[in-house]
Amino acid sequence: MTEIFDLIIIGAGPAGITASVYAARKRMNFIVVTGDIGGQTVWSGDVENYTGYQFITGPELAAKFEEHMRQYGIEARETEFVSDIQKSGGIISVKTNKGAYQTKTLIIASGKKSKELNVPGEKEFKNKGLTYCATCDGPLFSGKNVSVIGGGNSALDAALQLVKIAKHTYIINITPALGGDAVMRAKVEESPSVTIFNNTQVSAVLGDKTVTGIRIKDNKGKEDLVAVEGIFVEIGLVPNSDFARNIVKNEQGEIKVNCHNETNIPGIFAAGDVTDVPEKQIVIAAGEGSKAALSAFKYLARKK
Ligand SMILES: Cc1cc2nc3c(=O)[nH]c(=O)nc-3n(C[C@H](O)[C@H](O)[C@H](O)COP(=O)(O)OP(=O)(O)OC[C@H]3O[C@@H](n4cnc5c(N)ncnc54)[C@H](O)[C@@H]3O)c2cc1C
Repeated sequence: MTEIFDLIIIGAGPAGITASVYAARKRMNFIVVTGDIGGQTVWSGDVENYTGYQFITGPELAAKFEEHMRQYGIEARETEFVSDIQKSGGIISVKTNKGAYQTKTLIIASGKKSKELNVPGEKEFKNKGLTYCATCDGPLFSGKNVSVIGGGNSALDAALQLVKIAKHTYIINITPALGGDAVMRAKVEESPSVTIFNNTQVSAVLGDKTVTGIRIKDNKGKEDLVAVEGIFVEIGLVPNSDFARNIVKNEQGEIKVNCHNETNIPGIFAAGDVTDVPEKQIVIAAGEGSKAALSAFKYLARKK
């Protein structure tokens, strides 16, 4: 007979990991299915706003989260991606690329993924010089010319990591001025190894076997070529919520939750960046994950 879990947690970013720690402490019978461990935290460069750590790198913080999880004997099932969820007769079915499970409650903590540029050459040169993660791939471009596409916090974070590694960093920003955090923006603007192209977008990624440059176009239609060996796409994020077909979402695809992390389907909760909760931050995702686990626990207690 198929085992019916108390809880399944989708995702092991700050929200999913924190939910798992709370679920373990409540001795719930649960599993975690996830693409990876750490989520976006692994892509973050310097984290200076997670309480208790004045400074820690994203990968170090992700390792701390994982260590905390393992202390409770929780083994996340990695490279396991959820493709469908359905609820029928009080039981939630979860389908993944590796199997199918049944559970009484579910927490969706699947976070966000990078938006793509959708220009010629992007798909061809993905992982051949074009990447979506400066923390992961930045060191590969030591002493080389690179470009960061975007003008918000993620782009600033990437640029600040790259100025320490690359020869020169070109920022291609579609809006009239860089946005994001004022402190980070000032550091980027003051750096002598950064050139900023505002009001400009990328119209093509160029290369041979690997990336050799980008074609850019400003708001007056003037085109130019910039020779770079690395391209870091940082134009924003979209929620990983496609698999949650019957769940109510907002226009951005974020799952709507109330202050108890309840979705429109009883027994299905959501937490972190995949939800419509304002502000996408590690400390917020972690807090939301803990709330979601406690809500799932109380939901089960009420059913008994
Ligand atoms: C470059 C960058 C820098 C940042 N810097 C900071 C910072 O300094 N301070 C700060 O507070 N915040 C920062 N953030 C934001 C912060 O990282 C996020 O708010 C936080 O990680 C969200 O946590 P989460 O658990 O909701 O989602 P995520 O971290 O996105 O984790 C989602 C998890 O779900 C898994 N998943 C996705 N889809 C599926 C699926 N279909 N099936 C199974 N698993 C799935 C993923 O593999 C991942 O494990 C930064 C973000 C970026 C991109």
